Amino acid sequence: MTTQPAAAAAQATVHGYPRQGRNRELKKAIEGYWKGDVTTDALRATAAELRRTNWQQLAEAGIDEVPTGDFSYYDHVLDTSVMVGAVPQRHREAVRADGLDGYFAMARGTQDVAPLEMTKWFDTNYHYLVPELGPDTTFTADSAKQVDELREALALGHTARPVLVGPVTYLLLAKPAPGVPAGFEPLTLLERLLPVYAEVLADLRAAGAEWVQLDEPALVQDRTSAELNAVARTYRDLGALTDRPKLLVASYFGRLGEALPVLVKAPVEGLAIDFTDTAAANLDDLAAAGGLPGRRLVAGVVNGRNVWINDYGKSLTTLATLLGLADRVDVASSCSLLHVPLDTAPEKDIDPEILRWLAFARQKTGEIATLAKGLAEGTDAIAAEITANQADLASRADSPVIYDPVVQARADAVTGSDGRRSLPYGERAAAQRARFGLPLLPTTTIGSFPQTDELRTARADLRAGRIGTAGYEERIEAEIGEVISFQERTGIDVLVHGEPERNDMVHYFAEQLTGYLATRHGWVQSYGTRYVRPPVLAGDISRPDPMTVRWTTYAQSLTDRPVKGMLTGPVTMLAWSFVRDDQPLGDTARQVALALRDEVGDLEAAGTSVIQVDEPALRETLPLRTADRPAYLDWATESFRLTTGGVRPDTQIHTHMCYAEFGDIIQAIDDLDADVISLEAARSHMQVAHELAAHGYPREAGPGVYDIHSPRVPGAEEAADLLRTGLEAIPAERLWVNPDCGLKTRGWPETRAALGNLVAAARTVRGELSGS
Ligand code: GLN
Ligand code: ZN
Repeated sequence: MTTQPAAAAAQATVHGYPRQGRNRELKKAIEGYWKGDVTTDALRATAAELRRTNWQQLAEAGIDEVPTGDFSYYDHVLDTSVMVGAVPQRHREAVRADGLDGYFAMARGTQDVAPLEMTKWFDTNYHYLVPELGPDTTFTADSAKQVDELREALALGHTARPVLVGPVTYLLLAKPAPGVPAGFEPLTLLERLLPVYAEVLADLRAAGAEWVQLDEPALVQDRTSAELNAVARTYRDLGALTDRPKLLVASYFGRLGEALPVLVKAPVEGLAIDFTDTAAANLDDLAAAGGLPGRRLVAGVVNGRNVWINDYGKSLTTLATLLGLADRVDVASSCSLLHVPLDTAPEKDIDPEILRWLAFARQKTGEIATLAKGLAEGTDAIAAEITANQADLASRADSPVIYDPVVQARADAVTGSDGRRSLPYGERAAAQRARFGLPLLPTTTIGSFPQTDELRTARADLRAGRIGTAGYEERIEAEIGEVISFQERTGIDVLVHGEPERNDMVHYFAEQLTGYLATRHGWVQSYGTRYVRPPVLAGDISRPDPMTVRWTTYAQSLTDRPVKGMLTGPVTMLAWSFVRDDQPLGDTARQVALALRDEVGDLEAAGTSVIQVDEPALRETLPLRTADRPAYLDWATESFRLTTGGVRPDTQIHTHMCYAEFGDIIQAIDDLDADVISLEAARSHMQVAHELAAHGYPREAGPGVYDIHSPRVPGAEEAADLLRTGLEAIPAERLWVNPDCGLKTRGWPETRAALGNLVAAARTVRGELSGS
């Protein structure tokens, strides 16, 4: 490798860091505060200590400029709503009474007031609280949190850069407040919002900020020219302010496309841009736009979303190109490190040969510092690190853990017919009707039954060695027995075993598939105090042994009614895991699909006549740019069909998805060719049934009639009404009766009552149908 031109000013920075602490101290303190066990002062002290530790860790790793304001008690978009005074009317009183309690009321709701809605932060698995805005919204600046955290960092001797959600992204993430017509566009409030940002910027300047970062990830999505004009206008206005810090406008999660020249023309002092693989086009686009002469470029070359070590050679090449395009090039993560676990060091169960390929937040900060050093002092200064990096990459590239020639050959041999059922739906439906003899409006559930304390204890006892496998299996079988007999007594037509053996619908399978890694401490914030531990798709995937057959066949042995086998689909397996960066996602999906196809085959051979393959993540993994969607939907639907396509015509394939808005993927849902689909619908009053009908969806569907997100028990008449509404869109021969989703978060009393009512509703409406 050749020595690069030295850029004396090159610095290392990140856009944000995991908030939770090494032992998830923040989660524990906040949940303790909610219970009344932790005082306000103690909670604030824990938070301050976590911020201090994070900055110190960053500084020790060689990060020159640390972020501030990225810390949050719940969510940084909610923090932004507080910063601009966009507190919904219904939460004003609580916020006035106590800022912190009011904040948590907005996040979680109270007995009397509903929380803000929550939704996914772009295409990550982090969820933010959606700002509620309307034509009457007035904004007022409250810069206290940003100013205080900046002061804290400065007082500790750090060079610090406050990070704010940018005004355009903030408005684009908002939705009309309740009661405001759906057509209202929050972006029309820009004029009112900008003076508030100006005030916050002035406050931060006064508190000592040299630079402030404004995050505009919404610019990597398709934007209208009106929206791009709003961007130009925003940064023209903010740039023209006299009393302000230098502005760094950041974008991440993809290519900027037509937004890039708009940002390049903006009168701001710097841009932070994502240059990782999926955003590689930004490099050429930046050059084409004339670069950033005289300005600062923060180059996101270390992927903030995956768990793999950086390829130094590749990053240094990118950085060398960028040096010709800007006055100053700094090295950074592509986005906040919020989306990766904290540290690989405590992963004692992972083979050190594999651990060396992994980089979590802490390791990534080290990579960034190394690259910045290489950029500033020349690559000779990091020669040892480059050699070690090459060795690590090489050990991954030819590792037997990654490559399984059998899996690869099998994936290569897949043909279109593997993903096609042997008969068209109409003939399958006839065969299935003959086989099952189900009544009109058959009843079923989505899979899981309440996860009781006993089940959690059983799993913990097994893990701790207090009970052996036999003792554990006995408890699981006892639970399955209860679930089956309850469903028979209640009169449900297609039964489930209840999934008592599963802690998590992805983890359960990941643990049993070769090529998947589970972490022990790899927690990542999902929302608020909820953290998940996504497994890592590390290598070629295969299934050494059946994963679910034992439990499903046990359940089937207890009843004459059909018991549905339950699997998590390939798209969802990928969506809720860390994925490989060394092959296309579609290739990984195909491997997972083939492993699941084996499971489907074994279930069928063991006598399972109904098999459900859940794909709740199909919609959420949809690419941010419309142009990227067809390719995604192609491999996504192909992998589902590959999982399910090999079964007999009279084996009934179900799928399940839980989200209300799926208008944009309805064709893909059709392309899955599942015999039956269950969907969330109770809250939206069967809207999806009408959407299916409008599309001409030809197969069976069960729009949910029981909202399982709340302990509320729907009455039998209410469920019957929903069914009657469903019948306006879907003919009785193709309408199923089921809840919106699995019941694992519910308690038994409400589950019993609600399913009793659901069966009663089905019977009532069947009676009406046979009478008419
Ligand atoms: N079968 C799963 C369950 O019932 C489905 C969960 C989901 O859709 N998220 O729990
Ligand atoms: Zn669901």
